[in-house]
Amino acid sequence: MSFDQQKTALNYDIAIVGGAIVGATLAAALKNSGLRIIIIEAKPLELVAARTQAYALSLLSGEILEGIGVWQDIFPHVGKYRHISLSDGESPLTVEFEQNDLSRDFLGYVGEHRVILTALHKFTANCSNITWLSPAKVEKIIYQDEQASLKISSQGKTYCLNAKLVVGADGAKSAIRQTTAIKTRGWQYWQSCVAFTIKHEAASNDTAFERFWHSGPMGILPLPGNRCQVVWTAPHAEAQKLLAMAEEKFLAKLTKRTGGKLGRLQLVNPRVLFPVRLMQCDRYIKLRLALIGDAAHCCHPVGGQGLNLGIRDAAVLAGVLQEAHNR
Ligand SMILES: Cc1cc2nc3c(=O)[nH]c(=O)nc-3n(C[C@H](O)[C@H](O)[C@H](O)COP(=O)(O)OP(=O)(O)OC[C@H]3O[C@@H](n4cnc5c(N)ncnc54)[C@H](O)[C@@H]3O)c2cc1C
Repeated sequence: MSFDQQKTALNYDIAIVGGAIVGATLAAALKNSGLRIIIIEAKPLELVAARTQAYALSLLSGEILEGIGVWQDIFPHVGKYRHISLSDGESPLTVEFEQNDLSRDFLGYVGEHRVILTALHKFTANCSNITWLSPAKVEKIIYQDEQASLKISSQGKTYCLNAKLVVGADGAKSAIRQTTAIKTRGWQYWQSCVAFTIKHEAASNDTAFERFWHSGPMGILPLPGNRCQVVWTAPHAEAQKLLAMAEEKFLAKLTKRTGGKLGRLQLVNPRVLFPVRLMQCDRYIKLRLALIGDAAHCCHPVGGQGLNLGIRDAAVLAGVLQEAHNR
């Protein structure tokens, strides 16, 4: 439901701040809960969905999204890998994991941000208990014993909402977290990641590769249509050079790094640079507040865990809220 269609008073059970995959998963998981939910997203939804990132998704994330009822829209469009190949620097030796090790059809999936989030947007748009407000900014929150009061600005208008719980799903730099006394600990790594998608000449593969170089790991995740998501980790200065390098030279360097296994390569979208950090909050909840996803914790992308942890946060919190509501 869009915010303009709201006829009733602006009282909600849950105000989710941040409408990317983790925030939208929480809302979707509460579809039949009887709880009134508003998702407040800073950017226009088309822009949030347009991020050119793809993620390694665990089998558990697939099961959670299936349980919610949104996986059927995602599954046909994700990469599915049956093998994982790990190696070290120039060494010819590899450690191989096979789907038979788990007795499952796949070891994991690779999902594009756009595919997952568009499916979640479509799903939540059809839920009468879920309202989206975007683009919108939270100006102020007052946490009280019985509820939180939020002042929101959106497209030149100001709204005052009440919610029994505010959920911060607003990413690593969470403004919601920063307005509380919740402390964080962690560090910036000495590396950045350059992430991009390539199209390759070699036939589609169903193997996820990760090679650990002294300068940092490189992960190659298979996507449908002879494409791969590549995450190339390097010391900051080297990562900046990779970002600025002429495309032809960059692809030649990548071909050398991948041993030419993927044939001729083509960049499908621009390279994006991410600084990498580890961050853990000293607590995830406070009076009338819960933090989930990167707002609560961030990790190095080396293991492809960040989003998977966030999806799990959303599923667990949805379970707790549903149980409390049913009491
Ligand atoms: C290079 C790289 C590769 C990665 N690969 C993987 C992988 O393979 N697998 C994996 O599981 N994880 C991976 N991750 C981690 C993953 O990207 C994050 O863990 C995940 O995107 C976090 O999702 P989120 O919804 O919590 O936050 P975000 O995706 O950051 O979304 C936050 C949302 O909140 C909105 N917002 C921000 N501030 C406000 C505000 N004040 N008010 C309202 N809205 C606001 C933003 O616009 C955004 O839409 C990778 C990360 C990097 C950097």
